[in-house]
Amino acid sequence: MPAFDFMTVVTFAAQIISASVVALLLFGFQRQYRKSYLKHWTAGWTALAVYHLASFAGLVLSSQYGASAVDPRRITAAVLAAVAGYAQIGWFLFAPYELVRRRPIRMIAARRILAGLVVFSLITTVLFLDRSSFSITRNVARVGVHAFLGGIGFLIASIALWRARKRSTGIGFTVLSTAYFFYALEQLQYAFLTVSWAVAGEIPRYLNALGYADFLLQSVLAVGVIACLLEDEREAAELAGAEIEHLAYHDALTGLPNRPLFIDRLIVSIAQSQRSGHKIAVMFVDLDRLKDVNDSLGHSVGDQLIKIAAERVRRCVREGDTVARFGGDEFTLLVPKIDSIEDAAKIANKILETVKIPMIVNDRELVATASIGVSIYPNDGLDAETLVRNADTAMYRAKDSGRDNYHLYAPAMNARALERLALENMLRKAISNDELVLHYQPLIDTNSRSMIGTEALVRWNHPELGLLSPAHFISVAEISGLIIPIGDWIIDTAMRQLKAWHRRVGPELRMSINLSARQFQQQDLVEQIRAALNRHGLPAPSIELEITESNAMQNAENTIRTLRELKNLGVRIAMDDFGTGYSSLNYLKRFPIDTLKLDQSFVQGVLTDSSDAAIVSAVISMAHSLDLEVVAEGVETEEQLAFLHKQRCDRIQGFYFSAPLASEDMERFLVARNAAAM
Ligand code: C2E
Ligand code: MG
Ligand code: MG
Repeated sequence: MPAFDFMTVVTFAAQIISASVVALLLFGFQRQYRKSYLKHWTAGWTALAVYHLASFAGLVLSSQYGASAVDPRRITAAVLAAVAGYAQIGWFLFAPYELVRRRPIRMIAARRILAGLVVFSLITTVLFLDRSSFSITRNVARVGVHAFLGGIGFLIASIALWRARKRSTGIGFTVLSTAYFFYALEQLQYAFLTVSWAVAGEIPRYLNALGYADFLLQSVLAVGVIACLLEDEREAAELAGAEIEHLAYHDALTGLPNRPLFIDRLIVSIAQSQRSGHKIAVMFVDLDRLKDVNDSLGHSVGDQLIKIAAERVRRCVREGDTVARFGGDEFTLLVPKIDSIEDAAKIANKILETVKIPMIVNDRELVATASIGVSIYPNDGLDAETLVRNADTAMYRAKDSGRDNYHLYAPAMNARALERLALENMLRKAISNDELVLHYQPLIDTNSRSMIGTEALVRWNHPELGLLSPAHFISVAEISGLIIPIGDWIIDTAMRQLKAWHRRVGPELRMSINLSARQFQQQDLVEQIRAALNRHGLPAPSIELEITESNAMQNAENTIRTLRELKNLGVRIAMDDFGTGYSSLNYLKRFPIDTLKLDQSFVQGVLTDSSDAAIVSAVISMAHSLDLEVVAEGVETEEQLAFLHKQRCDRIQGFYFSAPLASEDMERFLVARNAAAM
């Protein structure tokens, strides 16, 4: 017979009351916070209270009323205790599962597990029903199995909670995990105890102490639950706050920043630019004819189109730039740091090109275009509102001039930027359309006055604008990178021409070819020149490559290296426009060049400006002392020629002798001279 004394009553009472109080408390919380895990714990604690109550009732019935083991009241109590006990394990595991997984357990799964536990509890009750007066073994088996299963389950829950504890900053998980751990130990201790009871045949003295421990653990567990609840709530509140903030400053359809956030960022950028002095570009991007799409294909297609277009615009800009949705089909773009207005034009162009790529919406191919207005801080406005308004105005101008283009707010810039871009686009096709031509200007030996070579000078036969000089397109070609294919073409064409002339007038004639800065930086320039010489079967010394002094000085050490390699090929090197590029004498000595071409600005002043005359004569004697030939460019008069001759300038080039000529004219010239010489 188990002992039934005052202490037992107190222990049971404490356990029943504490479990009920916690259950009630959690029930209250659950109604307020509506958390599924609170529901499980409430149910768990209720089950625990029932379990203790039923166990206590069983004890009272047997020891106080001498009810037999098969007394229906005792069986009822035993069944109730078993069912409640196992259900409690289930609920006590569901709750931490949900906390760790951050989502409610599926209802079907929970019901099945609970049903399984109940069936199992009924089986153990029937199996171990104490039909005799009192069978220690049966009671031990019943209680022991339950405690053992609970212990293992809680141990697993404790580990899972421990591993998840780093997720939140609070102590809830730690407290819960610790409480579950000791709760598991206590349950396992119960299981062990019942076994030793069965073996030794008597109840260990510390059974009651274990009851108190149980009571204490329940309290800690309850504290852990409440701590977790509070942390959960705080986290949810923070998340909700972030969500609200995001909703307040972003557009729901595209996820882009909205108008207030855009204006905010623009104001910040303006403040930063006031300090740093950078330009800011503000663009107003409006999708053309979106209304037609909405009307004919429906708003959902229109929305899809906006979404795709928004994503494309976003991909055209860099990390620090802001693309915002301003309204229906209007986007605004903030580029907080641009170096020049051309940068903005480039971005606008990129957006136009990207938006134009056909998109598939609902299996339908659509092509959207945009009109863009650009305003620049500080040129077009000093505050956010003005900048946006002016960009808007410029956008309407873009719409007026036929859509699918951009307009800068400042009208003067517009013309220039547009012209430049149009030029670039046409230049792209110039090579394949055979619009580029080379003209040739003779180089004359000052003493003999005979022609020793020609300089190839490129021209663009523009279909609308006529013959364009390099001043009009070389810089565009440089910026756009088109100079590389154009340069290739020039080298090839000039060499082919020289070979043809060699056949007619002999191999002494030289050809000067200008190299641009970008060409000069090309890795395979040397290889390319070598290949061209081989292709056309030309002796290397008949080619003179011209590089301007300022280009040579851009990266002097690199220049020296490349020039050396070119020299090793055997070609001649001339430094063009000498006198305009600030090269030091030191470099002049180290550059492996053959010729100095005196810039025409000095030549033209030799008779009128005494300092020009002094410079020219000084440069000539300096060049001679460095063993360089001197060519004077831009010689237009007999007097200039006479002066240069007196200063012992080696060669001259200029209108006095001949302007650059088309190849047919040059050929006639050459043949005539050749015939005269014979
Ligand atoms: P540059 O190499 O110094 O060429 C001489 C320029 O002076 C040519 O102008 C020529 O027409 C001009 N000129 C010749 N004689 C006289 C004269 O007596 N008086 C005046 N006022 N000018 C004269 P162009 O053809 O317009 O070329 C300008 C510049 O463009 C060239 O200067 C050269 O730097 C560049 N360039 C020309 N062709 C090419 C080319 O094929 N490739 C590269 N990269 N640059 C080229
Ligand atoms: Mg030149
Ligand atoms: Mg020159």
